[in-house]
Amino acid sequence: MDIFEKISQHDFEQVVFCHDASTGLKAIIAIHDTTLGPALGGTRMWTYSSNEEALKEVLHLARSMTYKSAAAGLDLGGGKGLIIGDPLTKKSEALFRSYGRFVETLKGRYITAKDMGIDEKDLSTMAKETPWVIGGTSSMGGGIKPSPFTANGVWRGIRAAAKVALGADSLQGLTVAVQGLGEVGLYLSERLINDGARVIATDINQDKIQEARKKVDLEIVEPEEIYSIDSDIFAPCAVSGAVNQETLPLLKCKVVAGGANNVLADEELAQKLLDCGILHAPDYIINAGGLISVELSRRGLGENAILSKIEEIEVRLQDIFKRSREENIPAHILADRYAEERIKEVAGLSSFFLPS
Ligand code: NAD
Repeated sequence: MDIFEKISQHDFEQVVFCHDASTGLKAIIAIHDTTLGPALGGTRMWTYSSNEEALKEVLHLARSMTYKSAAAGLDLGGGKGLIIGDPLTKKSEALFRSYGRFVETLKGRYITAKDMGIDEKDLSTMAKETPWVIGGTSSMGGGIKPSPFTANGVWRGIRAAAKVALGADSLQGLTVAVQGLGEVGLYLSERLINDGARVIATDINQDKIQEARKKVDLEIVEPEEIYSIDSDIFAPCAVSGAVNQETLPLLKCKVVAGGANNVLADEELAQKLLDCGILHAPDYIINAGGLISVELSRRGLGENAILSKIEEIEVRLQDIFKRSREENIPAHILADRYAEERIKEVAGLSSFFLPS
């Protein structure tokens, strides 16, 4: 498909292709929509089988950020950055400084933060070149770490789902399959275990498994086994597309609710999950805790304000789940409608001259 056809399909404002031969940087920054405010979205570092696959991913992620901010009631637009490369072997100071310079060229239209493959140190390196970074030790937001807040929102979302799908008032005795023991997956596992849940987890990185084992009492399975184990809840906290045509028939759970972005490989799967009696939490609603934390801390608010805003995720999801069941409409369609309505209302504001 032609690139302009691709970006006009979902009305993207801007896509920046970043290249720097001296540092080996190959990156894409996608700005989807800035109606509600600057496009805020993390940068991901990952490998892809083709540049087309990377572009597809960053566009999908950026668009989700527009919906995530709108649904969370934040005054932000949606964008995302993607550095193409293996985060285990290709990181360097020069690479992140070079990427930071590209972020700077956008002058605050795009604000970056953490996503998969990127850590606090990488963000601090980017922040040497641009102030439009949140989450580095010396950057805006006072070095806030979004992942625990993301995990907190996911935990709340899982509670909401357990109530509607399983009639459970607590997570005591429920089994949760966690895919990915990175930042979100590990914090989430800790919370779930504290609530008395049994956690069965996996990761493709043995170091992450060892680290997790030192902190929490969980059972480990091979990465390909995570879909088919007997669990009440499947919590994807790693790559996009965890639920796809191959994995859907393997699922034995009643709920899919995790931190990962773009859990469904394609939108048709949402109706298929509903038809199988599996409740699916729209990812941009359930994983909005990190975004809420970075935005509120950027505005000078503290932990209490952040946590009370994150509590709203539980209430919002319970409402969406109930309506989804009653109306037989996938939860993500109800969530999309809510977000689109808000953007439409703000886009419709009359434009009149404002003296400077
Ligand atoms: P991370 O890089 O810290 O952790 C991801 C983990 O997943 C890694 O340990 C990696 O080895 C593992 N992994 C990758 N592929 C896997 C596979 N096929 N099977 C099992 N494990 C696999 O990333 P994170 O910050 O924890 O983010 C996890 C997910 O949550 C991503 O999809 C990210 O976009 C999403 N998310 C994160 C935040 C946040 O605040 N960190 C906010 C919103 C959404």
